[in-house]
Amino acid sequence: MNKKYRKLRIEKRNRLFELAYIDPITGLGNYNAYLARTKEKLKLNDKKTIIILDIDKFKSFNKKYGHNKGNELLKRIGEEIKSSIRKTDIVCRLANDVFGIFMIGEVNIENITVRLNKKISRINIGDIWYNLRISMGVYICDKEEKNVQSIIDKAIFAHDSIKGKYNVTYGVFTEEFEQKMIRESEIENMMEEAIKNQEFEVYYQPQINAKTEKIEGSEALVRWKKDDKMISPNEFIPIFEKNRFIIKLDEYVYKRVCANIQEIKKQLKELPKISVNISKESLSEKNFLRKYIKISNKYNVTPNEIQLEITERTTTDENVNMKEILEKIKEKGFSIAVDDFGTGYSSLNMLEMLPIDTIKIDKSFIDKIGEEKSTIDLLEIILYITQKLHLKTVAEGVEKSEQVKYLKEQNCDLIQGYFYSKPLEFETFKKYITYNEKNERKP
Ligand code: C2E
Ligand code: CA
Ligand code: CA
Repeated sequence: MNKKYRKLRIEKRNRLFELAYIDPITGLGNYNAYLARTKEKLKLNDKKTIIILDIDKFKSFNKKYGHNKGNELLKRIGEEIKSSIRKTDIVCRLANDVFGIFMIGEVNIENITVRLNKKISRINIGDIWYNLRISMGVYICDKEEKNVQSIIDKAIFAHDSIKGKYNVTYGVFTEEFEQKMIRESEIENMMEEAIKNQEFEVYYQPQINAKTEKIEGSEALVRWKKDDKMISPNEFIPIFEKNRFIIKLDEYVYKRVCANIQEIKKQLKELPKISVNISKESLSEKNFLRKYIKISNKYNVTPNEIQLEITERTTTDENVNMKEILEKIKEKGFSIAVDDFGTGYSSLNMLEMLPIDTIKIDKSFIDKIGEEKSTIDLLEIILYITQKLHLKTVAEGVEKSEQVKYLKEQNCDLIQGYFYSKPLEFETFKKYITYNEKNERKP
């Protein structure tokens, strides 16, 4: 082969290598490169530190300033990370706005995370400066590791543990996470079967009108019965939100609710409005509304018999046009409740702008009733504002008579909580409504 062809061949090989290992946007290594470069180092006995870093709301940045600026930003972040670590350390861009760092030897976590945060949270592209928020997940290990993906997973797990926490920029993987991760994968291994085997059931918790003391609504709450044991929604819902299985579960619950409504209507004159929890993941699906309308039609349920509950956090999600989504839902006739109100960071502006019917005041506020006067001022203000905006109010987690008394005095509309009833199995719930129709409240 002559020289010219050999040269071409080498160039081709280099080019293929670049395509396979180099991220064209930042010039750093990509995910494949990260795997390849860290593989050898994993066998070393030295201390290894992995940091996974990403920027909050990178999508919004892209939308606001365009993709070119977004790419420039990623490049600048790559540069800043590189200048913050040693030459022998590794940094690659693993996906979108996710960077992976790998360090060998002693590392002062506090120093490095503070340095990275300082350099990236205020960063320039040319003359223009941008303020960003970053999140980091850290995993430190001093034993031999075999699998690169498993150490990335651990750093990501630590990263996810600080989600929703304000002013926390990094989380470190600890022993206790190990157990959590095992449990998480256990749950993930059982979930598909659980739907098939109908292990999920829907319970109903009555909502009582504060003036008439009659049942006026109820919330559908999912229960998971696995071999006579209950797994708490507080355990599995966050996992399902993370792996998006919640889309399937929400739909399943909605179907059960529609079937139950159809059955109640055959037997009773009046039907209390049923609230169904809808996760952010379900709500932002393109065909969400079409799918849910189709299900209701199948069971002869009209949307005005159902209220959809979305959390306050969902309403402040910047990735979707919440106003548009909710308006379409309203157009179909559903009513909308904002759940866990007071725990997120919504503004009064949001309350006015979005087509909301009901506010559900979070239990943490109700728990404060009966404490010193000053601590419940906020609750009084919330009730005052929601009434001014003609929104219906539901108090959640009401357990004591003094709370009921206070909420009645403050003209709260509906009361939900153990004081009146726990969430009930469907058959028991039906009896509860029947007794209520006959004016004898508790079955
Ligand atoms: P949430 O929507 O805030 O539901 C209220 C929770 O408070 C329920 O917990 C309910 O059983 C509990 N609760 C009601 N009254 C009282 C009380 O007086 N005292 C106390 N201590 N607790 C009370 P649960 O059923 O364990 O559900 C936990 C969370 O799981 C729910 O919080 C909701 O965010 C989520 N969830 C439940 N079902 C579904 C579902 O079908 N889809 C979705 N996406 N999320 C669901
Ligand atoms: Ca709820
Ligand atoms: Ca709630």
